[in-house]
Amino acid sequence: MTNKNKKVVVRIAPSPTGALHVGTARTALFNYLFAKHYRGKFILRIEDTDKERSDKKWEKDILDGLRWLGIDWDGKIHHQSKRIKIYKKYLDKMLKEKKAFYCWHTKEELDKERGEQTKQKQAPRHICSYRNKDATKKNLKDAIIRFKNDTKDTLKFNDLIRDEIKFESENFGDFSIAKSLTEPLYNFAVVIDDYQMKVTHIIRGEDHIPNTPRQILLQQALGMPMPKYAHLPLILGSDKSKLSKRHGATSVTEYKKLGYLPDALFNFLAILGWRGKNDEKEILDRKEIIQEFLLEDVQKSGAIFDVEKLNWMNGEYIRKISLKELTQLSIPYLTEAGYLDGIKRNTLQKIQKIIALEQTRMKKLLDIVDTADFFFKQNDYDITKLLWKDMRKLELQNILFSLDDIIKNIDLKSSWDKENLEKIIMPEAEKLGDRGKMLWPLRYALSGKDKSPGPFEIMEIIGKEATIAVIKKAQNKIAKLQK
Ligand code: GLU
Repeated sequence: MTNKNKKVVVRIAPSPTGALHVGTARTALFNYLFAKHYRGKFILRIEDTDKERSDKKWEKDILDGLRWLGIDWDGKIHHQSKRIKIYKKYLDKMLKEKKAFYCWHTKEELDKERGEQTKQKQAPRHICSYRNKDATKKNLKDAIIRFKNDTKDTLKFNDLIRDEIKFESENFGDFSIAKSLTEPLYNFAVVIDDYQMKVTHIIRGEDHIPNTPRQILLQQALGMPMPKYAHLPLILGSDKSKLSKRHGATSVTEYKKLGYLPDALFNFLAILGWRGKNDEKEILDRKEIIQEFLLEDVQKSGAIFDVEKLNWMNGEYIRKISLKELTQLSIPYLTEAGYLDGIKRNTLQKIQKIIALEQTRMKKLLDIVDTADFFFKQNDYDITKLLWKDMRKLELQNILFSLDDIIKNIDLKSSWDKENLEKIIMPEAEKLGDRGKMLWPLRYALSGKDKSPGPFEIMEIIGKEATIAVIKKAQNKIAKLQK
């Protein structure tokens, strides 16, 4: 597939017209992996010739997202907007050689033509009546530049993923290549750039397949060699339609904010349409992925973006990192939720203890805000939930009363830790014949949640004073209950 003597050069060429989409990130990743595997070069080119739609803020989002994922490019960033003179030179050349020409048809005329062709079930194309006219006589401001497409053959190229792809080249008509000498269109600029940047393999989404023959026709007209092509399968949502906002988050920034780890997203995107040697093995580190990555192993059919799987994978990565690191990563989420505002009790050590309890269950960093909220504030809850099985109000009142008594009497000199608390409270719970009678209301009152860590672990972290307050609140609430 790759010529050993020729250095592999690939590129990602995003247009800064929106946030970094996971699809673009996956394309960038496959290019990066391919380059790393063959020790080649990975170029980043910003395709910002569309002045109206391009925005520096999107460019920043794209660069930040790629950096965050650890998809590093080689050398400087290329901007198409800074290469206008280069494109102009080639446009001039094509015009001079009569391989391109000016066209004055208006949008209305072209729309009408397209409408008629569609009605007659013909492929819409524009064979321009200006193709042989002399350009100097009319106002060039109102004209666009088109490629003079005289080809009649079947155009074939061998896609590295999809094998042979064929097109009838005359079907493209005289397609447009620039709005003016200084405003090249995508298909034109891309051909010049890929040539000048010595790109050997073009790895991009399969939505670009219709552009490929147009680009090949331009390469032929300009006498430029044809790079190899590999068109990646689309990313689909759970319902197998193209991944869109309807399916949830689509940008890398959103995934970052939700608390996915870059290593996990890197791994997840890598196996989105590609599988390594052992296709059962899904957790792969960067080195393994680079070592195993081959375009031959990219699948042809669409790849489903399964958020459940990403959650599972992210959880696995969360459990791989050190408690210290996970704590540092979680703090911004707790801060954002307002949990760390002026609460002196929340020392780093305490937060670390909370994170240690949650690390086993967390799927993404943001989860901590909901699953561990009761460590930072008293949750409200439905009082009937405190009742264990068929327990009645009076029985619960008695249990809360004894819990209050036991807890208040725990000597602060004996240590307030989960082992000691268990040693003191458990025998009292056992005495009731069913320990759930005491442990359930205690845990529920502490967390206000159906699922949480055990009561002794929570008590150790929130301390004696807060535990007493929790019991008090339960007592006040139960007093209002009818029976
Ligand atoms: N600017 C194009 C895009 O964002 C690049 C396509 C290509 O890789 O040629 O889709």
